Amino acid sequence: MPHGRNRQICLAHHPTGFPTEDNFALLETAVPEPKEGEMLCRTIYLSLDPYMRGRMNPGPSYAPGVELGHVMGGATVSQVVRSRLPHYDEGDLVLSANGWQEFALSDGEGVRKLDPTIAPISTALGVLGMPGHTAYVGLLDHGRPKAGETVVVSAASGAVGAIVGQLAKLEGCRVVGIAGRQEKCDYVVSELGFDVCVSHHRDDLSEALHAACPDGIDVYFENVGGKVFDAVLPLLNTFARVPVCGRIANYNTTHPPTGPDRVPQLMGLTLVRRITFKGFIIFDHMDRFPTFFEYVSARIHDGTLKYREDLVDGIENTVPAFQGLLRGENFGKLLVRFGDDPTKT
Ligand code: NDP
Repeated sequence: MPHGRNRQICLAHHPTGFPTEDNFALLETAVPEPKEGEMLCRTIYLSLDPYMRGRMNPGPSYAPGVELGHVMGGATVSQVVRSRLPHYDEGDLVLSANGWQEFALSDGEGVRKLDPTIAPISTALGVLGMPGHTAYVGLLDHGRPKAGETVVVSAASGAVGAIVGQLAKLEGCRVVGIAGRQEKCDYVVSELGFDVCVSHHRDDLSEALHAACPDGIDVYFENVGGKVFDAVLPLLNTFARVPVCGRIANYNTTHPPTGPDRVPQLMGLTLVRRITFKGFIIFDHMDRFPTFFEYVSARIHDGTLKYREDLVDGIENTVPAFQGLLRGENFGKLLVRFGDDPTKT
C-alpha cells in the first residue's frame, strides 16, 4: 500500500480560447484507501486526447464537462495496487479512467483487464483502444470506402488518422493524407504506405490537394475542419461520404469566423452532389469493439498495420503536452507516463 501523496491536476478555470497553465492546478492529496467493493489503481499511462478540450468548457456538449476544482478526466492504463473487489488482484494491469492523477479508486465499472502478451499495454489507449476503434468505425461503417476510390484523411499522422489511412489502403483505395510538418507527411507515405500526403501549412493547400486528388474525393475523413475542410469541399465527388469525426482547428475558437456566410454553398454542394455528412461519437458504437479489436490486433501482429506513440514523462508535463497536441507538436498517439510500466522492466 503506498503511503505517499497523490498528485492530481484539477481544472481551476474554464479556458477562454487556447488553454493556459493557469487554467489548471497541480494538487497533492493523500492516496485514498479503498473501501469494500473498490480498488486502488496506480496510473502508468494517461491518454491525452483532443476531446478533453471540450470537457474544459462550461455548458452542454455530448458529454458533461469537468467541474471547476475537479480532477481532469481521461483514460488510463493502470495497475491495481490494492483490491477489495472480487476478480481484481494486486498487480493486475487494467484499462481504467483514473484521469489526470497518479492514483484513483475504482468500483470496477468500465474497467477492462489487459493482457500484456497480446500487445504492449499502452496500445489499449491508442491503436487497440478508443482512437483505433474510432478509425475503424468511422472509415468502414460511415465512410464505406470501395476499392479504387480516393480517401482523404486529415490529422493523418495522428492516433486516428494513421489508422484510417492504413485501413483504407487495405480496402484497395488511393489514400491521401493531410498533415502538418514535413516530417509527418514523409512518415505517412514512407512508413504507413499512404499514396500522397499534403501539408496544410502550404500556402497553396487547395491547389496541392487538387493535384493530389485528380479523380476528386470519394471519402473525406474529417478530423480537423477550418481551412483544411475549405480545401476539401470543392473536390468532393458525387455521392461522397464525409465521416465527421473531429474538428480540432475549431476547438479553441471563441468567435464565429468572419467573412461571407458559406452555409448556402455547403448546402448547395451537398444537394447537387448528394454528399453524405455523418457525425459520429465512438461511444455510440461499442457493439463494434470486438470486431474492431479482432481485425486490428491481427494486423498489428502480422505487421500490416503500424502505429506510433509519442511518450511524455511525468505528471508535471501533462499540461504542456496537452497544449502541444492542440498545436500539432505530438507525433503519433500522445501518452503521458506517470509511473513505471512493469511490463518494460
Ligand atoms: P492526433 O493524434 O491526430 O493529434 C491531433 C492533431 O491534430 C495534431 O497533431 C495536429 O496534427 C492536428 N491539428 C491540431 N490543430 C490543428 C489545426 N488547427 N489545423 C489542422 N490540424 C491540426 O489526435 P487524434 O487522432 O486523437 O484525434 C483526431 C481527431 O479525431 C480530433 O479532432 C478528435 O477530436 C477526433 N476524435 C473523435 C472521436 C469521435 O468519437 N468522434 C474519437 C476520437 C477522436 P498536424 O500536425 O498533422 O496538423
